[in-house]
Amino acid sequence: MLKKICAALAAAFALTACVTSPTGRSQLILLPDSQVDQMGLQAFETIKRDKPISNNARLNQVAQCIASNITQSTTGGRWEVVVFEDDSFNAFALPGNKIGVYTGLFNLVANQDQLAAVIGHEIGHVLAKHSAERASQELAVNSGMSMIQAMGNPQSPLGQAAFGMLGLGAEYGVLMPYGRTQESEADIIGVDLMAKAGFDPRQSINLWQRMSQATQGQQTAEFLSTHPSHATRIRDLEQHMPQAMGFYQQAQAMGRRPQCQ
Ligand SMILES: [Zn+2]
Repeated sequence: MLKKICAALAAAFALTACVTSPTGRSQLILLPDSQVDQMGLQAFETIKRDKPISNNARLNQVAQCIASNITQSTTGGRWEVVVFEDDSFNAFALPGNKIGVYTGLFNLVANQDQLAAVIGHEIGHVLAKHSAERASQELAVNSGMSMIQAMGNPQSPLGQAAFGMLGLGAEYGVLMPYGRTQESEADIIGVDLMAKAGFDPRQSINLWQRMSQATQGQQTAEFLSTHPSHATRIRDLEQHMPQAMGFYQQAQAMGRRPQCQ
């Protein structure tokens, strides 16, 4: 079915690609990477303009250390990491290699591995092109609209939708959580990423348990969307843990033992 839709849209848009996500799922992507990266870069500039940046040296060092350990041993490339002054338990990653971590998250996590679980999850959304996938669904409806242009006008309906697609909807007053499939996929990709970097993947389960206790029904953070439920998410991670532990043991054998705290 998706293949047929892809073919029809390919004819209509000329830049369509049907791709396979890192977990093997078929995806419809109507936007080139360069355009999605541009959306991410513009969104990051807007947030840096609107939200105070933390100059706490220790928090910046920890966030930078975790992010660079994960990206250097998996995705490569240079990623910009910014710590924002905000009490919510939140973090995000954007196409164009941008990562934001909120100071509140440091109050929740018990160790570097739990913070690595959140950052890994967010990078998972980027690697699986979830923003491009959502933007493509929007494009299929609003053909001809420029999503980059929309990023410059966050108050317009399409601008709000564009921020929502990047997982940043809450910042601009519109809650547009990722779908359940995308959340589950980011969980699996994220736990593999952290394990490959030498962070203990079992801590991802502790993190979600902690998160579920600390928030008790508040759903403000991107990764706290109501779907999947914490119970489903923990069960799926437990099922996936043997594979993640394999990556973790390989990483340890390669001497990857990050010390970020
Ligand atoms: Zn997520």
